[in-house]
Order: sequence, then C-alpha cells, then structure tokens
Amino acid sequence: RAKELGGHRVEVFAAHMHADVMRRLEMAADLQRALMENQFALEYQPVVDLATSRVTAVEALVRWWRGSAFVPPEDFLGVAEDTGLIVPLSEWILTEACREVAAWRASSWDIGLNVNLSPRQITSPRFVDTIAAALKESGLPPSALTLEVTEDLLVEDADERIERLSALRALGVRLAIDDFGTGYASLAYLRQLPVDMIKIDPSFVSGLGSDETLALLTRTIVRLGHDLGLVVVAEGIERPEQLEQLREMGCTRGQGYLVARPMAPRRVDTLMPPKLSGTLR
Ligand code: C2E
Ligand code: MG
Ligand code: MG
Ligand code: MG
Repeated sequence: RAKELGGHRVEVFAAHMHADVMRRLEMAADLQRALMENQFALEYQPVVDLATSRVTAVEALVRWWRGSAFVPPEDFLGVAEDTGLIVPLSEWILTEACREVAAWRASSWDIGLNVNLSPRQITSPRFVDTIAAALKESGLPPSALTLEVTEDLLVEDADERIERLSALRALGVRLAIDDFGTGYASLAYLRQLPVDMIKIDPSFVSGLGSDETLALLTRTIVRLGHDLGLVVVAEGIERPEQLEQLREMGCTRGQGYLVARPMAPRRVDTLMPPKLSGTLR
C-alpha cells in the first residue's frame, strides 16, 4: 500500500519533470532562433548621483520578446546558461552596449556603462578576449566599463573566475558586486575579489522608512563600503522616503523606478545634459 502510494508519487513527480524539461527544450530552441534572428534588445537604467541627480552610468539590461510575449530575463537566463547560449548572447550584449555607450560619450557625455555577467560566461575561455575586443572596437575606455557580478559566482570554480576577473581589472575595467548583502558570505567576497563598487540589494532599500533593522543594516553597509573606498549604489529606490534616508546615510549613488526606469536607447539620448554652446565668458 505504502509502496503503491510512493510509486504513484514518483509518477506525478516524473510528469511534472517531463513538462518542465519540454518547456526548457522549447525555450532553448526559441532562444537559439532569437539569437540568429537578432531578436534581443537592450534597455538601459540610469544610475544617478543622489545629491545632484546627475546620471553617472547606465546599466544594460537584456530584453526578449518571444513573439508578442515579453519574457523577463530571470525566466530565460537560466536556460541560456544551461545550454551554453549565454556565451554568444553575452557577447552580443557586451558589444552592443559598449558601442552604444561609446557613441553617447562621443557627444562629451561622461557616463559609464554597467554590464551584468553570468557565472557561466566567465568560465568561457573567450571571456577576457571578448571584453578586450568589445572595448577596442567601440573605443570605450576600460575605466568606463563596470562588470556586475553576483556573490554566487564564487561558489564554484572560484579560483579560475577570480583570476579572469583580476585580469580584466588589470586592463582598467571595474568590478561591482550586485545584489550585495543577499549572499551567504558577502563580507568574505570583499576580500577575495578586487571590487570597486557594491550595489545594495533592493531587499534592504525596500525596508527604509518602515523597518528599523533594515535601515540599520543599510546604514552599516554604506559605511562599510565607504570605509573600504568603494562606490556604494543603492538599488530599487521606489519611494521618496527611501531616497531621503539614503541621502541622509551618505549613500552617494542610486538606481530605481523613482529615479528612472530602464529605457530604450533612444530615450537615453534625452537624458544627455545640454551642451554648452559658443564660448564661455
Ligand atoms: P539586476 O542586475 O540586479 O538588475 C536590476 C533589476 O531590477 C532589473 O530587472 C531592473 O529592471 C529592476 N529594477 C530596477 N529598479 C527597480 C525598482 O525600483 N523596483 C523594482 N521592483 N525593480 C527594479 P530585470 O531587467 O528584470 O533584470 C533582472 C535580473 O536579470 C538582473 O538583476 C540581472 O541579474 C539579470 N540580467 C538582466 N539583464 C542581464 C544581462 O544583460 N546579462 C546578464 N548576465 N544578466 C542580466
Ligand atoms: Mg545588475
Ligand atoms: Mg541588483
Ligand atoms: Mg538581481
């Protein structure tokens, strides 16, 4: 009897698994086609100086319309990772973003570019060369590029990845820890990785104005980051009271829907500060 029940449970489980495998296979095929047919796009979300509201950088975020349905990156990046498609996809993202931001900088707009890295991408033997090539072809100075990595990156193959990221940093590229504070060993990573920036996870920022503990933790992270000489960016700012508290804590940079949503490239143009015309007197 117990065996029967158990056996039944295995079958149900297997059916679910089967559906999931099919879904992922279909998605993998669609991703492959999307890559060949150039169906991906980039949006850019501004990172601003919280004191002056000046845009200091833009973060490139990949967008995929699967037919008429928008698929959030978190729903397809896992499949792209598992199938290895993340490598060519990431190469396209990097090349496209460097080219676009280099063009904005050519109109004497001093902005940086942040690009997210996937864990698998870093293990690709082409990784360092791809980034060096994207910089060279676009003319973007290495110091204008910040690569965002998450803490789970160092769970496996840590030595190899640290070595590659260090090689890039030696070229002048900057590194950021994304979603800071959510990994199980946030502080340890600061010793292992040569980072320039931490991005405080939205789960801290969301509690500002209502949760004393989260406010205290946020304040502590801001201070820690600054004491280590890092740029600290607060992510996910949605409400004015969060912005107020972050300013009061001395957090200098921020990102979030309140400040600016991710936007299409042609809308980024409109954020460009007006050029000084004629001679200054
Ligand atoms: P992330 O790098 O932490 O990016 C921030 C995410 O938060 C973005 O979601 C952004 O649209 C969203 N966001 C920004 N401000 C707010 C806010 O005020 N409130 C809320 N609720 N959300 C906000 P998105 O574009 O869906 O990306 C999700 C994640 O997918 C990213 O998290 C990143 O880990 C990954 N991702 C996105 N684009 C790329 C890419 O080009 N390459 C790689 N490897 N990963 C990417
Ligand atoms: Mg990011
Ligand atoms: Mg983040
Ligand atoms: Mg994230």
